[in-house]
Amino acid sequence: MLIRVDDIKEAGLNREYAAAAAEFPELSVLEQRGEVFFPEPITTKLRAIRVGEMIQLDGTVSTSVRFVCSRCLKVYPHVLELVFTLTYARNLPAIDDAETGEELELNAEDLGLELLSGDELDLHAVIQEQVLLGLPLQPLCEDTCRGLCPRCGVDLNTATCNCAGDGFAGKFSVLKDWSNRQK
Ligand SMILES: [Zn+2]
Ligand SMILES: [Zn+2]
Repeated sequence: MLIRVDDIKEAGLNREYAAAAAEFPELSVLEQRGEVFFPEPITTKLRAIRVGEMIQLDGTVSTSVRFVCSRCLKVYPHVLELVFTLTYARNLPAIDDAETGEELELNAEDLGLELLSGDELDLHAVIQEQVLLGLPLQPLCEDTCRGLCPRCGVDLNTATCNCAGDGFAGKFSVLKDWSNRQK
């Protein structure tokens, strides 16, 4: 999944890729940890265009995933559809401070640019990064998911228990159990 920079012209270059999550080291780690599952290949469609000295990449990364709900631990399906635009520059433009006239020390990130090094663009890294950025920190099967009872562990979406009403005391006892287990 490499594009030679010289092959990118003003007219643009279209590419499509499909690759299993196993080909992306960081996605494999998430799968091994049981945090996210990727049952289908990760499909990428992109267009690379030369704009003067810069290269612009526009693309979409899509795949079906299985998340583990952070409240009830149920595994549920979700479709990831991520749109991205990246601009690559060989050198960072020099920008002067409008007031002092001194050159500002800006890095690529400040300018919203990616630094182009070498003769090729490594799309493998780009695709992995987009998927990682698109994963929720706390996946929820439903916004209204009621989660598990902190005391007895029943799924409060499908069952009720008699612990309700303990409120803080209930939560506290779970913390106490947890801290005892750490000893
Ligand atoms: Zn849930
Ligand atoms: Zn309960």
